[in-house]
Amino acid sequence: MWNLSSRVHRLNHFPDAGVNCFVKRDDELGCGISGSKLRKYASLFPYLIEQGIQHLIIIAGPQSNNLLAALQLAREFQLKVTAFLIEPWKLELQGNYKLSRLFLEEHEIVWVSRDQWQNVNELAHTHLLTLKEPGFVLQEGASVPEAMSGAISLANDIMINEQTLGFSFQHIFIDSGTGFSASALIKGLTQLNHRAQVYVVLLAENELIFRNKLTQWLGFIPQNFICLYPTTARAFGSVNQTIKNEVKRMAREEGILADPIYAAKLFYEARKYINTHQLKGNALIIHSGGTLTMPGFSYQ
Ligand SMILES: *Cc1c(COP(=O)(O)O)cnc(C)c1O
Repeated sequence: MWNLSSRVHRLNHFPDAGVNCFVKRDDELGCGISGSKLRKYASLFPYLIEQGIQHLIIIAGPQSNNLLAALQLAREFQLKVTAFLIEPWKLELQGNYKLSRLFLEEHEIVWVSRDQWQNVNELAHTHLLTLKEPGFVLQEGASVPEAMSGAISLANDIMINEQTLGFSFQHIFIDSGTGFSASALIKGLTQLNHRAQVYVVLLAENELIFRNKLTQWLGFIPQNFICLYPTTARAFGSVNQTIKNEVKRMAREEGILADPIYAAKLFYEARKYINTHQLKGNALIIHSGGTLTMPGFSYQ
């Protein structure tokens, strides 16, 4: 029921002195659901169904990839839904929110103001107690322990790609929102005794928070990763001309749709890092999806 295998292919115009660059097409795992989310849900939804959960309480931003993903699966599995959404500065029926509203009625939304957002988990759990049916609170980014075994499938799938290709990767670049997918990759590779170095591009939070989460989710801090920050358009969700140029470059040089929030920033930082640090061997960049947000931006 869940296809979690995606292809790897070579990139045309990435640095080629001493390094071979490849992309993992997790963006192709789902049309409406980004690859990293599909992996998480592949273990989370079977768990919810097994537990007899009938109501999903989703914590998200109105434009988030995860809201859109969670709604699709909630409807597929006929769960009731309440969405606790952070009130945006200006609500527009655009982008992911426009698509999410196809799945979501007005009365199923609880708007949480920005100054109340720090209490959103509490608000959601209070709401959970008022439900007449069994419910589950889905944290931001679907980063809950029950999603870990699904998210770890990325590491296994890379090993399968390596068997097909006949070589292994020394360097793996991944983007990070909540950091859950990156944690799972790091854990999975450690368990499989894979020796690649993982480069985590922290798009939304700092290294200290990421390390605390590793302790929380994995129970230990592995040694096989380093953290990078975006060097341009640093704030999460911000887009500048450099990133727009990267979107266009990825389209024209590589034939790849790279969204400006996650993928374009990852490709930009990976290329820059590979160049400046003169990496050698085989490098893999994980394209986790997010393509549906692309029409919402201007690229001029
Ligand atoms: C959610 C998402 C991420 C971030 O995943 P985390 O596990 O929260 O770090 C990265 N890329 C895309 C396209 C996403 O939708």
